[in-house]
Amino acid sequence: MKRVYLDHAATTYTKPEVLEEMLPYFNEVYGNASSLHSFGREAARAVNEAREKVAKAIGAKPHEIYFTGGGTESDNWAIRGIVKKNGGKGHIITSNIEHHAIDVTLEELEKTGVEVSVIDVDENGIIKLDELEKAIREDTILITVMMANNEIGSIQPIAKIGEIAKNHNIPFHTDAVQAIGAVEIDVEKMNIDMLSMSAHKFYGPKGIGAMYLREGVDIGKLITGGAQERGMRAATTATPLIVGLGKAIELAYTNFEEKRSEISNKRNYLIKKITENIPYVFVNGGMKNRLPNNANFSFQHVEGESVMLRLDLEGIAVSTGSACASGTVEASKILMAIGRDLNLASSGIRMTLGEQNSYEDLDYVVEKLIKIVKDLRFMSPLFKETHKGEQNV
Ligand code: PLP
Repeated sequence: MKRVYLDHAATTYTKPEVLEEMLPYFNEVYGNASSLHSFGREAARAVNEAREKVAKAIGAKPHEIYFTGGGTESDNWAIRGIVKKNGGKGHIITSNIEHHAIDVTLEELEKTGVEVSVIDVDENGIIKLDELEKAIREDTILITVMMANNEIGSIQPIAKIGEIAKNHNIPFHTDAVQAIGAVEIDVEKMNIDMLSMSAHKFYGPKGIGAMYLREGVDIGKLITGGAQERGMRAATTATPLIVGLGKAIELAYTNFEEKRSEISNKRNYLIKKITENIPYVFVNGGMKNRLPNNANFSFQHVEGESVMLRLDLEGIAVSTGSACASGTVEASKILMAIGRDLNLASSGIRMTLGEQNSYEDLDYVVEKLIKIVKDLRFMSPLFKETHKGEQNV
């Protein structure tokens, strides 16, 4: 059976060039990067090179880059670090479309006295800047807003948020996990103080990420122990993974414009084919300021989970934003945030393209999808009732 992977926002494969670069660091250059002998020094050299590559990609200095276990860990460090430095108290501003790594962490901290203002996004999934600025208080200790959304791909006005934060002297953190390789980033121009990334979202290995922490911003240590990562994140240095992250981010910004337009052309083709061939389909999120590989649809009166599972039977991997909790389908909080009703917010399907997807793959997906949506609607009394007497639905 043909297999098509359209879930690159969940994770990507590791590119062969990345894997090749990593392999010697498993069993040839295997010294501990903290050891002073030549085996250790060789590993340390590779780690430093990777740190330089990460820094270069986002306009940072190498000593402002810390390697972590991934996006979730970097997000936790940024938020919990700032809260700790402020004695466990203070006010934080965020958006209503953050990843769970941010919003669940904030919910936890709210239980211990931290106050949180959650700013709405508009129908395109873009944060309302005037509301964000109005929410600033004397005791605001952090603004954390993601760079690009994982479900609808909306890209936030990060430079403007950075400017607001700087004008009020508030540290600004952005979760850029979905943005690396898709958005040009300059932490200086954008006034970013902290930035989270994760290699497995841009064709690097899983279990490794990084945090950019601007020089002079003090958030304390993440994990105590040895002196690795300048004492901020103790644990034996994961040399092969770090080398992989370095190579992956270097590739992510090589031929950037060319790759971005190629993938967005394919994504636009997919959207065109689906909207032309399936009635009562809604594209979620705006088309401006959107990740080039992201498409998100709601098929009226069809549950997203059912479409996803039926596509899986045809070898096609997509995802839904809705969570299937104890047998009932919960609507996507992101689709609700952009104003979709409960029905459409429960029928979201996210398709995220990767560099390997071909037009032929997309034609296969559209062909299967047309049939699946038609079948599911045939079984939906609600759809039949709503569209009684209509042809070709
Ligand atoms: N933030 C965003 C926006 C994400 O999409 C993800 C992963 O889906 C994460 C954070 C978590 O990253 P990781 O899987 O590296 O912990």
